[in-house]
Amino acid sequence: MSDAIKTDVLIIGAGPCGLFAVFELGLLDMKAHLIDILDKVGGQCAELYPEKPIYDIPGIPTVSGQGLTDALMEQIKPFHPTFHLGEMVEKVERIGDPGFRVTTDDGKVFECKVVVIAAGGGSFQPKRPPVPGIEAYEGSSVFYSVRKMEQFRDKELLIVGGGDSALDWTLNLHPLAKRVTLLHRRDDFRAAPHSVEQMRALVASGKMDLKIGQVTELAGASGKLAGATIKHNDNSVTKIDCDTMLPFFGLTMKLGPVAEWGIELENNLVPVETSAFETSVPGIFAIGDINTYPGKLKLILCGFHEGALMAQKAHRYVYPEKRLVFQYTTSSSSLQKKLGVS
Ligand SMILES: Cc1cc2nc3c(=O)[nH]c(=O)nc-3n(C[C@H](O)[C@H](O)[C@H](O)COP(=O)(O)OP(=O)(O)OC[C@H]3O[C@@H](n4cnc5c(N)ncnc54)[C@H](O)[C@@H]3O)c2cc1C
Repeated sequence: MSDAIKTDVLIIGAGPCGLFAVFELGLLDMKAHLIDILDKVGGQCAELYPEKPIYDIPGIPTVSGQGLTDALMEQIKPFHPTFHLGEMVEKVERIGDPGFRVTTDDGKVFECKVVVIAAGGGSFQPKRPPVPGIEAYEGSSVFYSVRKMEQFRDKELLIVGGGDSALDWTLNLHPLAKRVTLLHRRDDFRAAPHSVEQMRALVASGKMDLKIGQVTELAGASGKLAGATIKHNDNSVTKIDCDTMLPFFGLTMKLGPVAEWGIELENNLVPVETSAFETSVPGIFAIGDINTYPGKLKLILCGFHEGALMAQKAHRYVYPEKRLVFQYTTSSSSLQKKLGVS
């Protein structure tokens, strides 16, 4: 076992809420390490919708998922957080009062005063459609998320699904792609009505195709897709040419090891009190999508607020002897010094 890495606060999850927590903790002189299963920071914003706009971040009329991630990384630079990416937190044990030992699947061990669980929906994985042999095309012709739209320029796309992701990517990718076919198992969509209207207008003007049915077979070789067989609801079968398939069947959120950390859970979420977003274990906090309390909204702005209140209480565990004085960044020269702007 490696020597333990010592830090004030260990943040599990480097999504937007974990990232902003670094800022709030940093202003109060607490150092943080962050661990994330993904090989990059930004959580859902960077993994699921890097190029899509977010319109409800206070004071920022529009920003993409990746844009918000980049801005948060810039904002927390003065506090020099340390990232451990591509690692999953497996174990959280109490070793003091307060004090925790946290172990990753890579065997890394951390010792800290405070643990902040910012694990979102846990480890999220796309649901795979039940098409025989689809695994052979994953990563080369079949993709469950769109990281770079450019990748799909001039492609013959088969987009499968009837929710917002399927409709949004149909609308966003059709100007770039050679041809887009949207396939859904019935002619009734769960997506935003405006998106459905836009899609139907494109179909009516011959700019894309809509098919109703399900993929039963894929054709191709060496991971390169050449076409798909579609079974329609009247049991007729057609074949279409396509070189890329984007199935959007939703995500399975697997809570993962969080369930084994001795924290009370409620429907796979972590219940917290709302003065500091602390869990049933003193010194372990939960912020962002992973927590639950009356009135909870799974919005980034709520997770930011939770991080600010969490930091105030975390300060008591990290510096029990110090009194905390509330200060504004606008007027406090000491905060500005920490931010490197004075
Ligand atoms: C398509 C889409 C559009 C959205 N649009 C908006 C919007 O417009 N406005 C808005 O406010 N919200 C929006 N959201 C929701 C928003 O993205 C989430 O509320 C936000 O990402 C939650 O942030 P988080 O930091 O709590 O969790 P996440 O972003 O889920 O990040 C959690 C991170 O924790 C990691 N993790 C989990 N378990 C472990 C473990 N055991 N060890 C290590 N790492 C772990 C995960 O890999 C992940 O990176 C949208 C979501 C989607 C899917």
